[in-house]
Amino acid sequence: MQAEVLEKYRKAGQILAEVLREARSRVEVGASLLELANFVEDLIRSKGAAPAFPCNISLDRNAAHYTPGPKDESCFGESMVKLDVGVHLDGYVADSAITIDLSGHPDLTEASKAALEVALELVAPGVSTAKIGAAIEETIEGYGYRPVSNLTGHGLSRYVAHGDPVIPNKAVEKGVILRVGDVIAIEPFATNGSGRISEAPINEIYGFSAPRPVRLPQARALMKQIQELYKTLPFARRWLVGKRTDFALMQLLKSGVVHRYPVLWEVEGALVSQAEHTVVIVEDGCEVTTRL
Ligand code: MN
Ligand code: MN
Repeated sequence: MQAEVLEKYRKAGQILAEVLREARSRVEVGASLLELANFVEDLIRSKGAAPAFPCNISLDRNAAHYTPGPKDESCFGESMVKLDVGVHLDGYVADSAITIDLSGHPDLTEASKAALEVALELVAPGVSTAKIGAAIEETIEGYGYRPVSNLTGHGLSRYVAHGDPVIPNKAVEKGVILRVGDVIAIEPFATNGSGRISEAPINEIYGFSAPRPVRLPQARALMKQIQELYKTLPFARRWLVGKRTDFALMQLLKSGVVHRYPVLWEVEGALVSQAEHTVVIVEDGCEVTTRL
């Protein structure tokens, strides 16, 4: 990896760690989700970077992909809060998440956090992702919980917030061998339910797929806006500015210009915790970019 590229990954990671440190204390019963999301995204921009994806604030059974809509009025209750934040510098992404438990389940929160630490100890060139997945599963089961088996960690690359390789959260038959220069996000999810998630009928996050001919002028304008501002990184419906953007967005969805990232929730309605760091694989192990 070029030195300048590594520096951008490191800088993005440090900004993200600072942002999460400040955001954590703002998660409390009665606080507004929309205000927190705006705070996090504005703080990223004020530090000279940009959100790599909308600030995800997923509660309780929601494991991932909730971000407040433009008129969201909801406030935190006694919930298990997953705060999952992405930062990019020139397209080089840092991705990290913490669980702030307001629900009184500290051991469930600890299970995903401990699994992440165990995984980080293992990560090195030549190590199979299968070994990492097995260690994550074993650690979470040691706490008496289950990993969410159909959510995984992933590779990161320029303007790609979710790429190869897949980093499983359970034992798998065939893994991928990690190599020097790989950038990956490891993100164990633990649950007191079945360990499966499915798509919920809630969509606030979208991403660009491909340019296609669209008739509606507002939709054409929106397509241009999305391509220029977000490239292939996910964006929030809340971020779109202009006239009739919701209607234009639905046209782009129908034409296949954009795709949705629906909220992913635990199928039985059980609680889910998450912990995540981004790492760069180096000769003697890994460098965690998202730790202060
Ligand atoms: Mn994440
Ligand atoms: Mn991730």
